[in-house]
Amino acid sequence: MELVCPAGSLPAFEQAVNHGADAVYIGFRDSTNARAFAGLNFDDERAAKALALARARGVKLFVALNTYAESGNTARWYDAVDRVAALGADALIAADLGVLDYASRHYPDLALHLSVQGSATNYEALDFYVRRFGIRRAVLPRVLSLKQVRQVAASGRVDVEVFGFGSLCIMAEGRCYLSSYMTGESPNQQGVCSPARFVEWRQSGAQMESRLNGVVIDRFGPDEKAGYPTLCKGRFECQGQTSHVLEEPTSLNTMAILPDLLAAGVKAIKLEGRQRSPAYVGQVVSVWRQAIDRLKKDPAGFRPDPHWMAVLQGFSEGSQTTLGPYDRPWQ
Ligand code: SF4
Repeated sequence: MELVCPAGSLPAFEQAVNHGADAVYIGFRDSTNARAFAGLNFDDERAAKALALARARGVKLFVALNTYAESGNTARWYDAVDRVAALGADALIAADLGVLDYASRHYPDLALHLSVQGSATNYEALDFYVRRFGIRRAVLPRVLSLKQVRQVAASGRVDVEVFGFGSLCIMAEGRCYLSSYMTGESPNQQGVCSPARFVEWRQSGAQMESRLNGVVIDRFGPDEKAGYPTLCKGRFECQGQTSHVLEEPTSLNTMAILPDLLAAGVKAIKLEGRQRSPAYVGQVVSVWRQAIDRLKKDPAGFRPDPHWMAVLQGFSEGSQTTLGPYDRPWQ
């Protein structure tokens, strides 16, 4: 089981490598990257530095071009594929059929991983991507139950990677347009949900208001930690009650079912967080490195260490975690 870690900057990349990543995934500084936050990510020079560090430490480097190419502007995405190939990365992570097609035709030796944004949830979809583009790995969407992950992994058609920890999206991956609805920009094409330039914080009496493009997303009391205003995690008035109508802020944490994921044949655990700080990357990677090493030594006796869980809890949205869709007792 490989540990695949996020890096939105060179310092974060170093933290990932130093704390035990088997592979680190990065993105370029443009809308080809679903984490295109201002001030983050890699130009060609930084990507080359990251690759040199990865090679020196025996770590793999993946590049995510995981947004959908804009009609009439596909050259940006094709150019990014050329840059990944020229860099000599170990894999390209992509979702767009046109990008996968271009990469597979022009660079047949470049390993392709299907991004979580591709939203392939069944054997038949994965089989198509293998036959058509020769993908070597698929990152499964965070909408599948553990039972469904088992079914997909058991097919053995392609290596399966799943998310282990990090922020959670409630929508079918790659298909959420809430941010587009509010701002005209979304993760799918512009690479960012709730772009920072639309975000506003305003003190209103004792409360702090968060707004997105002028619309109030949440109001926080003096004792509450104010979260970033993403529409899915806002509090709204509905049928006379104000609550998190769509989703409470929470993070995915699959530590408790790590032995099940290993037994299911999952080949890689991915950590979310290319928008997070180097300190987050270092501490979260360290916890997961220890966990996977302990799991490999003694799968039957594996128990999550309370200290690990406390560290992960501290980095979680709303300071709470969930197994999310993995846990569906009614299935
Ligand atoms: S609005 Fe929420 S569910 Fe949609 S992309 Fe943003 S974070 Fe994900």
